[in-house]
Amino acid sequence: MTEKISKNDTEWQQQLSPDQFRICRKNGTEPAFSGNYWNTKETGTYQCVCCGNELFDSNSKFDSGTGWPSFYQAINSEQVATKKDSSLFMQRTEVLCNKCDSHLGHVFPDGPQPTGLRFCINSASLEFKKK
Ligand code: FE
Repeated sequence: MTEKISKNDTEWQQQLSPDQFRICRKNGTEPAFSGNYWNTKETGTYQCVCCGNELFDSNSKFDSGTGWPSFYQAINSEQVATKKDSSLFMQRTEVLCNKCDSHLGHVFPDGPQPTGLRFCINSASLEFKKK
């Protein structure tokens, strides 16, 4: 069972930049090709910018051509949660940090093997730790 972190909006706003707050805590999306990590190819770990939870490893990152950092799997299934998202007249699956409920992005069933999944994640929700 993952230990949960719970803060109110004021506390998150003090800790995060305006873009980070809008994306992570208010289900925002950064424009394609605008974030820090869509083209990052270095070896390391992508952590939750809100709580430091380790979410994705660079070894599962791939070039999706979308302009958002894309991974075919999370570090493990305990670190991320998913939930149905019917906003914007689309049926999508939202990806959240399982520890602090930060909005990370969405997962789609059109990724590469071995999982066939594409985790499409906002750079603003991540913090890259180089190995
Ligand atoms: Fe988190």
